[in-house]
Amino acid sequence: MARILVVEDEMQIARNLRDYLEDAGFEVTVVGDGGAALASARGDRPDLVVLDLGLPGIDGLDVARELRRSTNVPIVMLTARGEETDRVVGLEIGADDYLVKPFSPKELVARVRAVLRRTSRAGAAEVLRTADVEVDLSKMRARVDGHTVDLTPTEFQLLATFVREPGRVFTRGQLQEALHGAMLESYERAIDAHVKNLRRKIEPEPSRPRYVLTVHGVGYRFADD
Ligand code: CA
Repeated sequence: MARILVVEDEMQIARNLRDYLEDAGFEVTVVGDGGAALASARGDRPDLVVLDLGLPGIDGLDVARELRRSTNVPIVMLTARGEETDRVVGLEIGADDYLVKPFSPKELVARVRAVLRRTSRAGAAEVLRTADVEVDLSKMRARVDGHTVDLTPTEFQLLATFVREPGRVFTRGQLQEALHGAMLESYERAIDAHVKNLRRKIEPEPSRPRYVLTVHGVGYRFADD
């Protein structure tokens, strides 16, 4: 049973989310502020964190930053309408997905399942190799030029999608689909943010990418030469 940590200070929403997630078969812990969230994440090592960005005390984005410093636990952010900058910043920090309030608890359950699915799509003992990049799907480990790189689940899936078909041009929509299984919402800037993070980690010179190439006006492709 996957364990979910819900970080939400509005008790009504928190209770509602807990009920829905428990009904969906998850084990749920609820905390109401950032300090408790970090303590719980360190102590209980949840499989996924649902993180409200508007928190008393430590800001939600700082909580995400702190989580990323020590773990690759998947993060689904909850944001208020109009907090678009926060969403992009959150994705740049390495959060995996977000929902805009108000959302239906069913939608949250679907997103949580999708993120967990792509996190644990580890069953196949498959190692993909192209150029100097090696992606071990079962171990969820990526190596560039012989060096292991530390990727979030989303970055890992993005890299695996590229490396499966070197040279293929992907639109942002197709990449979005590869990450989520379905195009739930069009947010091209999110893909750009994930690509930027991935480049920072695997490219020798992120400003002059050698692996993940931009196809202007279309999207991206992985180098095939
Ligand atoms: Ca809040």
